[in-house]
Amino acid sequence: MPIYEYHCSDCGQEFEIRQKFSDDPATVCPACGGSIEKLISRTSFALKGSGWYSEGYSKDSKPKTPSICPKEGACSSCPSAAA
Ligand SMILES: [Zn+2]
Repeated sequence: MPIYEYHCSDCGQEFEIRQKFSDDPATVCPACGGSIEKLISRTSFALKGSGWYSEGYSKDSKPKTPSICPKEGACSSCPSAAA
């Protein structure tokens, strides 16, 4: 069951609620009864993103270059640009 993070705009409290996908999103703060909004978990998103990226990168291309060029191979120090 996925866990959703909510933030209460009234009391400022953050909490997690376990919900099914079929459940309606919670809208009321259990602490003060104020209105709450759903947060996207930054931690799980970052873990998922980096895992997917490093996995796909190592599979698709061999780690020839130790550093990833910020210009995607278009800078003067890139081997592909020099060739
Ligand atoms: Zn509250």
